[in-house]
Amino acid sequence: MRRKILFKFFACFMALIFALSCVFYTIYEPAKIKEVKADALDDQLAKQKETSETNQKALDDASAEVAKLKNQAADTQAYVDQLNSMINGIQTKINELNSKIDAVNQKITEKQNELAAAQEDAEKQYDAMKLRIKFMYEHNQESYLALILQSQSIGEMMNKVEYVSKISDYDRQMLIRYNDTVNLIAAVKQELQDDHDSLVADRTELDTQKQVNDYLVSQKNQELGILDTQVATAEKLETQLKENQIKLDAEIEATANQIAAREAEFKRILAEQAAAAAAANSGSAVSAGNTGSGYFMWPTISTRLTADFNEYDPSVRVGIHHGIDIGAVTPGVVGDPVYAAADGVVVVAGYNWSGGNWVWILHDNGLVTLYMHNTSLLVSQGQYVKKGQLISYMGSTGESTGAHLHFGIRQGISGSYIDPKPYLPKVWHW
Ligand SMILES: [Zn+2]
Repeated sequence: MRRKILFKFFACFMALIFALSCVFYTIYEPAKIKEVKADALDDQLAKQKETSETNQKALDDASAEVAKLKNQAADTQAYVDQLNSMINGIQTKINELNSKIDAVNQKITEKQNELAAAQEDAEKQYDAMKLRIKFMYEHNQESYLALILQSQSIGEMMNKVEYVSKISDYDRQMLIRYNDTVNLIAAVKQELQDDHDSLVADRTELDTQKQVNDYLVSQKNQELGILDTQVATAEKLETQLKENQIKLDAEIEATANQIAAREAEFKRILAEQAAAAAAANSGSAVSAGNTGSGYFMWPTISTRLTADFNEYDPSVRVGIHHGIDIGAVTPGVVGDPVYAAADGVVVVAGYNWSGGNWVWILHDNGLVTLYMHNTSLLVSQGQYVKKGQLISYMGSTGESTGAHLHFGIRQGISGSYIDPKPYLPKVWHW
């Protein structure tokens, strides 16, 4: 009776532990798998491509910068040419104005001389008139009468009277005429002076315009100098990036060739093994199809799934799940054997930050099986393995939170991931 109670208590306790374990591993066991490269060579190619893309982007930017700067320089040069053309136009106008100013100055000088001569004539006439008036006032009426009476004939007298009156009339008329001449010349001279002043004002304005344009040209030429330096710098960078790009492209090609050579070698091994098996007639017949059970065997002892293909749960992994997770026989205990799902060549055997100790096997149907998070590996790259061969021990290396095997299938070494379940015997359970 007492033993029965103890047994019941023990059974309940164990059930509770088991239930808790199940919950714990369901939550924590799935590994966070995201897109990872097969090995160092693939990593190298990916990095080279990334570097190449970065360089190409920098090259595009540099080329755009060169084009932009050259456009700016061309625009600035066009503006300078336009300014120089304007300056030439202004200079032509200034030259024309200078010719006109010279001509006007010459005329002004001529008028200056004419005016001086006319003024001299007027002065002379005025002096003569003053002498004659003085003479008439110095002699009295009698003298004037005597002058007339002394005339030997009436004609002579009349002539003399007429002469005297004409003398005064002449003086008056001459004075007016001389004065008019002086005034006319002065007026013409003033007109010419006004023309001159107007021409000089026009020239001053053009001089200012020319100075402004000269200043702009000097400024723009300075900008052109800076732009030329910038273009040279940008072109130097562009050239350097172009050279880099050529080098990077060559490196990518070299790596791609290495990868292709390696894949060819894997295929050669597969073909060689297939031929050997056919000759020995001992190898299991290999199905050509990708589907159907029988081709792949279940890769470990436990058939308990803990995570399905294409599962998406951001709390446990980045991106979708590229395979199925198979829990350990005893949850949390590492060391279960892991078997090759079919004959094939080991294309990857090593450590990866995400997949941990992993193995990739290429089969002659073109599919690649992946085995991740192993505690240790028993095979190496290039090795041919048989279906069911022990290749590693289950573990929890890489991005894993508990002992399990992540089993995946890719359509070729660089192919896309597909659901492994349809390719396996239907033995799994949850
Ligand atoms: Zn997984």
